[in-house]
Amino acid sequence: MSGNEFYDLIILGGGPAGLTAGIYAMRAALKTVLVERGVPGGQVAITKEVENYPGFIEIGGFDLCDKFFQHAKHYGLEMIEKEAVCTEPGLDYHSVRIADGTLLKAHAVVLAAGGTARKLNIPGEDEYFGKGVSYCATCNGFFFRDKTVAVVGGGDTALEDALYLSKITRKVYLIHRRDAFRGSRILQQRVFEEPRIEIIYNAVVASINGGDDGVRDIALKDTQTGAQRNIETEGVFIFVGFAPNNQLVPAGIKTNRTGYVITDEKCETDIPGIFAVGDLRQKYANQIVLAAADGCTAALAAAHYVETRKGGQTCQDDGSSHEQNAKQVSQ
Ligand code: NAP
Repeated sequence: MSGNEFYDLIILGGGPAGLTAGIYAMRAALKTVLVERGVPGGQVAITKEVENYPGFIEIGGFDLCDKFFQHAKHYGLEMIEKEAVCTEPGLDYHSVRIADGTLLKAHAVVLAAGGTARKLNIPGEDEYFGKGVSYCATCNGFFFRDKTVAVVGGGDTALEDALYLSKITRKVYLIHRRDAFRGSRILQQRVFEEPRIEIIYNAVVASINGGDDGVRDIALKDTQTGAQRNIETEGVFIFVGFAPNNQLVPAGIKTNRTGYVITDEKCETDIPGIFAVGDLRQKYANQIVLAAADGCTAALAAAHYVETRKGGQTCQDDGSSHEQNAKQVSQ
């Protein structure tokens, strides 16, 4: 990259969605660059085990991401390991500014920045972050060997990571605000069968308390009775969902009330040539396989869009040219 480059496609984010978009874009012969500020793989790279990506009964999250990465590299995908700071839509082309001042221009942009762990926003959460409070069991579980920890949440992440922590720690309190988990049945069953996990239903954490040596206890409030009590714990793992990383979504693109980008079935936003994929996009569920599927869809649609912009192929109203193109690319 020499600076101020013109591409067919810029992909912002190198998780499963962005890397899959990169694979399909390269196979469609688009001049493509992927911008990623951190480790390729996003959230999945810090997931210990993945058991539901088709073709792999069990695979480490980092290993799966590395396979996506190597696959994209195999097709020669250009990658810039820097932070993108803004997306500027235009009529003739779209631009992306990189933190070092470089301006990238392209016919199409795929927004694939994923999401970030949501916070509880309670007293002590920021104060004890890194001193007992964590949002990543595989990153920090090791520090709580033979200790007592609390896991907050009732989705797949909370259940999966409570199970993971139960293998390392002495005891895991699993605290959920309702009396039924949102996470999958298979994970629930495993949690119920794990003697080191004590489930506390209908409770929210009111505060995280401690001292110079880190977290010592948490204050719980019963959501039914309002009763309060404290439980001793040295670690608090918070898994209460994700918020989309929508900082690079330009004004004019519709989002829902929680900030997820609304697209059509091609993953295209309100602005022609700008696509949103993976955990950033509003959809029924966030799964690795769905993020990868989004990446595929957006790249095929972007290939068609770029061809149309370049005048290489006429856009037929019946969509047949697009279907033909999609078929060729997917072979
Ligand atoms: P999630 O499914 O949105 O679950 C968030 C959990 O946190 C819910 O149980 C929610 O309670 C609870 N919660 C939210 N705000 C809270 C608050 N302020 N105080 C207390 N509890 C709160 O999030 P996730 O578990 O991170 O999963 C995100 C997506 O990734 C899901 O689609 C999930 O299926 C997927 N995922 C899949 C796997 C896998 O298949 N291996 C692993 C991890 C994640 P309520 O239930 O009461 O709303």
